[in-house]
Parts: sequence; C-alpha cells; structure tokens
Amino acid sequence: MANITKWDTIWHSRGDNASWCRGIILTGGRGLPATQPEEQGNPMHEAEKSIHEFDFNLIGEYFSSIERQGPGSPQATLQALSFIDNLAADSRIADLGCGTGGQTMVLAQHTPGSITGLDLFPVFIDRFNARARELLLHERVTGVVGLMDNLPFHDEELDLIWSEGAIYNIGFVRGVTEWRRYLKPGGWLAVSEASWFTSERPAEIDRFWKDEYPEIDTIPVKVAQMQQAGYIPVATFILPETCWTEHYYQPQAAMQAAFLQQHAGERAAEELVANIRHEAEMYARYKAFYGYVFYIGRKV
Ligand code: SAH
Repeated sequence: MANITKWDTIWHSRGDNASWCRGIILTGGRGLPATQPEEQGNPMHEAEKSIHEFDFNLIGEYFSSIERQGPGSPQATLQALSFIDNLAADSRIADLGCGTGGQTMVLAQHTPGSITGLDLFPVFIDRFNARARELLLHERVTGVVGLMDNLPFHDEELDLIWSEGAIYNIGFVRGVTEWRRYLKPGGWLAVSEASWFTSERPAEIDRFWKDEYPEIDTIPVKVAQMQQAGYIPVATFILPETCWTEHYYQPQAAMQAAFLQQHAGERAAEELVANIRHEAEMYARYKAFYGYVFYIGRKV
C-alpha cells in the first residue's frame, strides 16, 4: 500500500490479477468474519488458487510488528489535519484501512470526537485496540474489522473520513465517490494516494506502477477527480521523503532479518521480503517521479 505496493505487489507478484484485498477475501476468510467471502461473491476457482498461492497470515505477522503499514508520518498526518476545522466532541470520524493505527492515534491525540478505525486484517485491529487502551484513548477510539467497500456507517453520519495509503485498494475514484454518502454536508475527506509528480517518467517505473496500480495519475488529475466526485478540493501536498524512508522502509529493514530467520526456508516469507526490498529500491531510484500525496476535500 504503500507504497502501495506493499500489499499489491506481493499479490500481483504471484501472477494473479486479483487485487491484494480481494486476494485476502478469496483465501476463504482465514481470520476474517465468516460472512465476508459470501458477500463478496467471488468465484471459487480463484479462491482455491489463492489459498495455495499465498500465506496471508504471514503478511499479518510481518506488518503488525511495525508502526505503519504504508508511507506517512505523524507530521504529515498533522499537516493534513491542519486544513480541517469545525471538529467537536460529538464529531464522528472514520479511518479507513487504518492498519495497526499509527496515524489514527496521532489523529485522536489532536482531535475531539470519536474515531472508528476499520481494516480487513483482524490482527491489525487487535493491535490497534491494544494501542488505544495503552494510550487511554479507548473510550473514543475503536478499531473494527471490515471492508472499505461495505462500510458499517449510515448516510451522512461522519464529519471526517480519513484514509492513509489505503484507498487504492478499491481505487481512488471509486473510494472518493462511494464514501461521500457517509459524510455530512460540509464533511471532510483526507486521503493519501500514490501519484505521479511529472507528466512523463522513465519506462521502468511507469511499467512497475501500471502493473501494481494502473489508477496512479498526476496530482491535477486526482484533484479534478475529487472535484468531479462532489468535493471542494481544499488542499494537496506531497508527503516528504522521510515518510517513505525513516517512517516506512527503515523500520522494516530493521526487522526483516529476524523475520527471515524465524521463517527460514519458507519461500513465501522470502518472497514477501524480496518484494518489499524491490519496492524500496524502486523508490530510491525513481522517487523524483512519484510519491504519496495527501488530498483534502470538503463535501459540497
Ligand atoms: N493506514 C495505515 C495502513 C495502510 S496499508 C498506514 O498508513 O499505516 C493499507 C491497509 O488497508 C492495510 O492495513 C490493509 O489491511 C487495509 N485494507 C486493504 N484492503 C482493504 C479493504 N478492502 N477494506 C479494508 N481495509 C483494507
């Protein structure tokens, strides 16, 4: 997600066209509420293939041991938050694809109101709720297992929808369009999304992203999509490089050796780490051409 890639690349690298999240669901719901696979109505032959192709528990184990599951930082979260006003003690906030809640806890410490973090990985949500308790935020911060394309909210219930490094799972246009109904009139949307910085780029990185997430596009295109979906585009900013290095890849590098040792001889674990390392190398080489961008909008 991270880069987006983190999850998507892993999945795609298996030679399957299903998205990462779909792949998770296709595993037959291992670790997921039993109702979800049926609700998704995915073909069974793909499900069987997926079960054999990938060990999702491994992804959960790998990423739940680190603070963030996508590029970002407390500073970037606070910068995005600085564009948003009118939040109060009765405000309702959702953080979609919250992961273990790195950004959610920062948000909670700097906003009034209650926050629901939603993620499809139960192991991330367990960690999320444990952190909320540790930080004494649990009375207004709750993590739930769920799907970002089947949200447990009412129309016009939310004052703010937050989502860092996660909307690409259902696609930016689909996400901003479908999530709008859950916002009150005048409600806020703040999402980070992989974006091109230039209109042209080297073929290698263009191919890499078109394989992982063909919806990646330039900042003006994403802003126009947001406006088209019914939001006033309030602000955009590029996440600094440290959101990728210091806050995302470096913490992983620090634990990869131990992870590989623990899973010595397991091909899935080796491939997981190899994919993430490849993604980090691509970022180091081509970071002038892409990155994560925060898009902040207000429901018209
Ligand atoms: N916001 C966090 C996590 C980003 S990684 C951070 O910035 O650190 C993307 C997250 O989206 C993962 O935690 C993954 O489990 C979650 N995810 C992927 N597909 C999803 C879906 N369809 N519904 C809900 N969560 C999903």
